Amino acid sequence: MTNNPFSAERLLFTPATPDRDAVSIIFAFPNEYSVGITSLGYQIVWATLAMRPDVDVRRLFTDANEPLPARSELLGFSLSWELDYVHLLDVLERLEIPIYSRDRSENHPLIFGGGPVLTANPEPFADFFDIILLGDGENLLGDFIDAYRDVRGENRRKTLRHLARVPGIYIPSLYEVTYTAPDGAIASISPIDADIPATITKQTYRGNTLSASSVVTENAAWSNIFMVEVVRSCPEMCRFCLASYLTLPFRVSSLEGSLIPAIDRGLQVTDRLGLLGASITQHPEFEDLLDYLGKDKFDSVRLSIASVRTNTVTEKLANILAKRDTQSITIAVESGSERVRKIINKKLETDEIIQAAAHAKSGGLKSLKLYGMVGIPGEEPEDVDRTVEMMRSIKKAVPGLRLTLGCSTFVPKSHTPFQWFGVDPQAEKRLKFLRKELRSSGIDFRPESYNWSVIQALISRGDRRLSSLLELVRHYGDSVGSYKRAFKQLRGKLPEMDDYVRTDYSLDRILPWHHLHGPLPTAILQKHLTESLQHFRKNGRSERSPITANSID
Ligand code: SF4
Repeated sequence: MTNNPFSAERLLFTPATPDRDAVSIIFAFPNEYSVGITSLGYQIVWATLAMRPDVDVRRLFTDANEPLPARSELLGFSLSWELDYVHLLDVLERLEIPIYSRDRSENHPLIFGGGPVLTANPEPFADFFDIILLGDGENLLGDFIDAYRDVRGENRRKTLRHLARVPGIYIPSLYEVTYTAPDGAIASISPIDADIPATITKQTYRGNTLSASSVVTENAAWSNIFMVEVVRSCPEMCRFCLASYLTLPFRVSSLEGSLIPAIDRGLQVTDRLGLLGASITQHPEFEDLLDYLGKDKFDSVRLSIASVRTNTVTEKLANILAKRDTQSITIAVESGSERVRKIINKKLETDEIIQAAAHAKSGGLKSLKLYGMVGIPGEEPEDVDRTVEMMRSIKKAVPGLRLTLGCSTFVPKSHTPFQWFGVDPQAEKRLKFLRKELRSSGIDFRPESYNWSVIQALISRGDRRLSSLLELVRHYGDSVGSYKRAFKQLRGKLPEMDDYVRTDYSLDRILPWHHLHGPLPTAILQKHLTESLQHFRKNGRSERSPITANSID
């Protein structure tokens, strides 16, 4: 990358010239330029701000920045990977801003944040932010800037209280969390005053024009890619899935009105196209989109797509991908066990998986990547045997197709029916078992680090007490050993690591995001959990688990 990566950018929008008294904003991505500029969310927020003449926005990455103002009024971060918080704290220190909101004064900018990590569970990071934006940015970002302008020049206290009344804007310092003991469970979460809303609801954009790249550059991690969002959320509602539950309802980009014009615009400046979305093949006009992309004029285009639903892998899809320089397709099957797939509501038969593999090969693809998971609540050792059998059957049924199984460990996510379950300690053993069995069968096995899943679970279910722990860990390095060391150091001041990571919570426990409402009420999440429990061998994972079918009314 050049010293000035910005010079290679091709913009797909026209930035406004900032007014003389424009609001000065630094918008940061807490990682390198190549990573940040590949985030469609970051691109969109930056472009939205840059198109407003009443805003003067400058970008900052850990290795590059545009000329920064001597003093900015707002400093924003887009957080899309949990461990980027380390860089976020580094950036604050570099700009001589206290890392805790409580230590900032009138001389400091207001620190705001958004993005998938914060929308899922902002609490471990709550003390680092003055303002957190929850949900889709389309309307929320404009509402935020407008509301800020209404009270611009007022002191922090008044400004934050004003912003707290805007739907989707969360001001962590205006909520008090109490605990049953310093290392006990949460006892209550309440606003500090009666005029602060008791709950904050994640904002949902309901239009049919979704996001598309605002910039294309050779310096992106996916060099020169133009990204277009085909769908948002996923209607399948697998019980563990944040990508579905947190972003409901399922929305699609209009083919004629939005998708095709965006693709045409992007392909004027590049020949690399990425179709994004949790379940793009479920776009009702996906076939028409394929027909469009199959046209001769796109012969030089390289097409990349996100993982697709297994029973939508047709020969036609495989054929277009192969023609457009893609050799492989990825499907998420989660488990070879039909019982486990019922537990998670994955509506998929083993025969359909074999069929998808056959289509991939006959369409001209060279390899098929499957995604699986171990440690799914209710999973028994025999279920992992079924995964081995499934992989072997695919290999036998479709010889010559390169097969890979990527496998992660179940991690509980907020706002999903499985948010009450902890990480299964058996998962690590099961990953090792799969590695041994599959590699000996000539099947490529790529496990995700079990330790990384443990850290993800900690952050996923963490509360505000984690902020002091995260601050310590950043100096120790990001291994599980570092977290254990920090927990030991803070013993008595917060629960044990296992309480966050492994414990199955009772359904009446106050979770850290109790006051932050997602798309579905808790009663619906519990109903979906009950449906899953019908397929458990036992009611709940262990004798000691507080989660049983009987515990849900
Ligand atoms: S099909 Fe995939 S994206 Fe959709 S809910 Fe299931 S796991 Fe999530």
